[in-house]
Amino acid sequence: MKSLGIMGGTFDPIHYGHLVAAEGARHQFNLDKVIFVPSGRPPHKTENKISDPSQRLAMTNLAIASNNYFDISAIEVERPGLSYTIDTVLSFRSMYRSSKLYFITGGDAVLEILTWKDVGRLISLCTFIAATRPGYHLEHLEQAFLELPAAYRKNIHIMEVPALAISSTDIRERIRTGRPIKYLLPESVEQYVNKHNLYK
Ligand code: ATP
Ligand code: MG
Repeated sequence: MKSLGIMGGTFDPIHYGHLVAAEGARHQFNLDKVIFVPSGRPPHKTENKISDPSQRLAMTNLAIASNNYFDISAIEVERPGLSYTIDTVLSFRSMYRSSKLYFITGGDAVLEILTWKDVGRLISLCTFIAATRPGYHLEHLEQAFLELPAAYRKNIHIMEVPALAISSTDIRERIRTGRPIKYLLPESVEQYVNKHNLYK
């Protein structure tokens, strides 16, 4: 494989915002594959209660089933301790020695990159693709981006994707308050959520 995208996230639940970002990156950066990596224990979400890793893996599997370019890895779920991106990228680096690695995030996540563990090393190991996301406008993203050290900027690309104002937080809130989630996420994932009574 020449180039490989890694799409990290909590995916609680996975929705069309994630899928559109991953597919946009695949096409724009000519990636041979995008591997979805559900987070085991996200360091920035330790306060919140998140769904069981097996359920988030199952929903991610359902969501990617119809795209031959998409795959999934349980590497973060299986690794003990908090899930740091640097550990994941190091593992992928040793598994795919000759591939160019890309890490796909939304604009909100990339703005926090300075708080990530071993950020300097991380940016030297993979190229970041930051998808635009409603609420994090392109101008805003570009402005914040300009404040990052030049050495980091070189390896971060801003990618425009169709704006989907969808978040997992909003989907969970909709379920709690009895509002529809239909058309915000794949039907198979919606059925899984209903069947397992998630987010009630
Ligand atoms: P939560 O509200 O629980 O934080 P989320 O919708 O932000 O959920 P995450 O699992 O946190 O989903 O996101 C994984 C990655 O996908 C992050 O890099 C995030 O920025 C990106 N992402 C999420 N939703 C969108 C969207 N609608 N458009 C573009 N990128 C997105
Ligand atoms: Mg998020």
